[in-house]
Amino acid sequence: MRSGVLNASRLSSNGVPDAERAFFVADLCEVYQQYQRWCKNLPEIQPHYAVKSNPDPYVLRLLAALGAGFDCASNQEINQVLALGGGVEPSNIIFANPCKAISFVRAAARAGVDKMTFDNVDELYKIARAHPRAKLVIRILADDSKSICAFNVKFGAALSAVPGLLAKAKELNLDVIGVSFHVGSGCYDPSVYTDAISRCRKVFDMAQDAGYEFDFLDVGGGFEDSLFEQAAAYLRDAIDEYFPERKHIKIIAEPGRYFVSNAFRLATNIIARRAPQADANAHAKVMYYINDGVYGAFNCLMFDHAVARPYVLCMDSSFHVPVGETLSRCSIWGPTCDSIDKICEDAELPARLQAGDWLGFDGMGAYTICAASQFNGFQVSKVVYTAGGDGEMEVRVALAKFAARGGGLQA
Ligand SMILES: *Cc1c(COP(=O)(O)O)cnc(C)c1O
Repeated sequence: MRSGVLNASRLSSNGVPDAERAFFVADLCEVYQQYQRWCKNLPEIQPHYAVKSNPDPYVLRLLAALGAGFDCASNQEINQVLALGGGVEPSNIIFANPCKAISFVRAAARAGVDKMTFDNVDELYKIARAHPRAKLVIRILADDSKSICAFNVKFGAALSAVPGLLAKAKELNLDVIGVSFHVGSGCYDPSVYTDAISRCRKVFDMAQDAGYEFDFLDVGGGFEDSLFEQAAAYLRDAIDEYFPERKHIKIIAEPGRYFVSNAFRLATNIIARRAPQADANAHAKVMYYINDGVYGAFNCLMFDHAVARPYVLCMDSSFHVPVGETLSRCSIWGPTCDSIDKICEDAELPARLQAGDWLGFDGMGAYTICAASQFNGFQVSKVVYTAGGDGEMEVRVALAKFAARGGGLQA
């Protein structure tokens, strides 16, 4: 972050336009450590990274190098993952979107991507036409009431609908290999995994009645960094209880935010400041305007129900904020002309902060860059990479080995 800020001020003093542009710092060591943490806690479950949470090319490459599979929801995501090379096979991908365009199903068939989810009869007809050799995974409803972003309103079959769906699949000569669920993104009560796994057990039994021999269990995503060990313990216990015999069963998960949330930080420049207006209630606090906002990286405030927590990165050309600095209440706004573009209603920051200073935001890796727009002509903030923490050597070795296997970068 510091060298990025220093670089920006160098460019700026040379008169380079947009020198103060906001930027992400991606720490690949963080992704590496999260992968190790996953393997330690859930050694039986192969993570399939949910590409939608952040399709960053280096993150994809590193996770592929470490042995992760991928959860893709579109043709483009599938192409991006297959273009990584380096031994990433179509069998490492699950097309985990229960409602797919028929042209995407055809493209998946051509690309050799066989594993795909469904949760309704219409999808079965479509798949029977476009990819009759598909290996299907039935997506069921799970309790998503303990998650920030619930998915049940859009996807998932009720248990009562499963026998009918399996009978229809049989009739259409389709192969159903297993079951999946998603507890919702940003799950804050991981005990929901217990109920979800018990439902999966029921679906395995229903499958047997329908003439299928399931051997695939997909426990979805929703893993929160701070609750991960807890979630893993619930999952391990539930799997032990409901699937005591499981040598023949392949278990995967679809974590997204878990891998990237804390790997990306955002550095933003204060481009303008409005002093408190004594006469107007609405502007009673200092207003700071920074150069990324709700139409950019902070779309997560809208779509992902995130909360922005700013801190001073650089003030008056110093990275050190003296203790005892006088603070004042302020609000923080994005750069566009829309008043919805508000990042923080109420923050407390040093009173002498001014235009040209920098604010940092941590935990900006998931559901940020991927959904950022260029509304009003503001570019999506660029990413710079570091690998300076624990595991730096391992990250470099993994990426080098992957490159040696032909794993290139398509970006
Ligand atoms: C979004 C999504 C994920 C990833 O969810 P996280 O909460 O980021 O782990 C996984 N699977 C499916 C089907 C999804 O839609």
